[in-house]
Amino acid sequence: MKVVLSLDQAQEEVDRWINTIGGRYFSELTNLGILMEEVGELSRLMVRQYGEQKAKVTEQPGELADEMADVLWVLLCLANQTGVDLTAAFKKNLEKKTTRDRNRFGSE
Ligand SMILES: [Mg+2]
Repeated sequence: MKVVLSLDQAQEEVDRWINTIGGRYFSELTNLGILMEEVGELSRLMVRQYGEQKAKVTEQPGELADEMADVLWVLLCLANQTGVDLTAAFKKNLEKKTTRDRNRFGSE
């Protein structure tokens, strides 16, 4: 069964986890650094799975989905900390891209 989770719910779930299990949010700048780290982990994995780099013999293969979820998690933390409603932000961003790029990628 497919689980449906809205961005609102994801922001709420992260906030609930932080306030019950995590204890507190790291500072915004700490989480920004962690976001960069997690993007780096995702990059390392994808470069080895889809790019031309090879994993070291001793390296355990990471899981793409888990690394993407790590990136999303920290981004959700940052959204909560900075008061960003990701649902509204995503809709607005999609509208912007749609308007701007309506004729950009069509076949000629
Ligand atoms: Mg990670």
